[in-house]
Amino acid sequence: MSTLFSYQHQQQHGRLALIMAGVLLILALGLLPFLSTPLPEIKPFLPIYAASIVLLEGLTAYLLLSHFLSNRVLYFGAVATAYLFMLPLIIIQLLVFPGVFSPSGLLNAGSQSAVWIWVFWHGGFPSIMLLTLLTERHGQQLQAAPDKRIRWAWIFVLAPLAVGTAMALLATWHSDILPVLIAANSYQQLLRSPYAIIVWLVNSLALLLMIRRSKAGGVMPVWLSLALFASLLDVTLTLLAGQRYSLGWYAARVSSTCSATVLLGVLLWEMNRLYRDVQKDNEQLYQLTLRDALTGCFNRRYLDKRLSQELAMAARQQNCVGLLLLDVDHFKRFNDRYGHLAGDQCLKHVASLMQATLQRPADFVARYGGEEFVIVLPDTDIAGAMQVAERMRRMVQQEAIMIDSMLVQVTASLGVAVSEDGKMNAADLINRADQALYQAKAQGRNQVQLATI
Ligand code: GH3
Ligand code: MG
Ligand code: MG
Repeated sequence: MSTLFSYQHQQQHGRLALIMAGVLLILALGLLPFLSTPLPEIKPFLPIYAASIVLLEGLTAYLLLSHFLSNRVLYFGAVATAYLFMLPLIIIQLLVFPGVFSPSGLLNAGSQSAVWIWVFWHGGFPSIMLLTLLTERHGQQLQAAPDKRIRWAWIFVLAPLAVGTAMALLATWHSDILPVLIAANSYQQLLRSPYAIIVWLVNSLALLLMIRRSKAGGVMPVWLSLALFASLLDVTLTLLAGQRYSLGWYAARVSSTCSATVLLGVLLWEMNRLYRDVQKDNEQLYQLTLRDALTGCFNRRYLDKRLSQELAMAARQQNCVGLLLLDVDHFKRFNDRYGHLAGDQCLKHVASLMQATLQRPADFVARYGGEEFVIVLPDTDIAGAMQVAERMRRMVQQEAIMIDSMLVQVTASLGVAVSEDGKMNAADLINRADQALYQAKAQGRNQVQLATI
């Protein structure tokens, strides 16, 4: 059965994530000497950045939560929480950011509001990621009880939104009780404060533990490690940039977008794979419902459907349809002598001989019941049907079957009926073949009889 983020292809995921981390690192190192270079203040940049992050993270959380609702694995809900937590912070930060909607920001924000929201946001995301590791015990993912599923989902949605909103509003309306971290767009005070170090350390710790967790298996921790790596780069670049609207500040926001995109991209890719796998499984299951489990021939259900279709088509085109009914001779005796398992083996053997005898792709064999098989030969007249029947009879007689290292010969009798203009219905055609088979049995078995018209 296919599941999202199964343990398949884990190595490929690990390698790809490592390459992407390498590319991000090389780009960041390349920018290192120029991080504090001031760049123009591009007004639409922040709204575009915030809108895309909200969209990416909102979608990620939605997909993770739907997945939690279907499999009840707490891990998925907990990771969704980390993404939902950021949404109110990002939205409110955009509103209060000086110079975006008004010179000092909306909502009566203070000069420290935006930077404190940044601290809560960038400290909160890795902290929740650390908490997600608690949803596993001894390598086993914990699952919510079926009747608690909805309650958990509400907790996963409401708790992060409430905490994120409360933190953002605290920073917005009560920034006067919070230490000063920024002066005239410069981060020098932030850099010297313990908060920057705490945020950086929490990101590093979450990254290290997630990498360690990814070694224990599973695809999702691999990509969360990359998301946390991009988040750590974001924090590092912001701090090293030293001021808003510098090259490092812009680069940090690009890295933050990478962090938000990674999991969504992989989720979509995995869901696509899951969809393809489910389709394939469905097709295989459907094929199984058409087959007889013992012999692998088609079953009665398939025969009923296909034979009616073939007859309807033949009636339209005024074609013949040949039908053979094959019954193994003295099969009860065979079972009594060699046992039921050997009997089963014999049925498989006869079925494979019949399959081997058929030459046209439209011909098919179906198990009619017990040791009786129906062979349908579309577009085949009496001479053709008799020829195929005789070939089958000979084949069964010639190809002995190995039972307990002994070669045992079996024979079969066949009744043949042909609907010459396709006007006969399926039941009539089978009845006729059955009467012919009865005659073949009555006249000594191991022979082919044609139904008399
Ligand atoms: P005849 O030559 O007249 O056809 O005699 P027969 O013994 O073959 O016919 P009969 O209908 O009396 O017996 C059919 C036997 O097939 C009875 C049953 O034990 C056996 N049989 C039916 N289905 C299976 C099966 O799936 N596996 C095995 N091993 N035997 C089966
Ligand atoms: Mg029988
Ligand atoms: Mg029989």
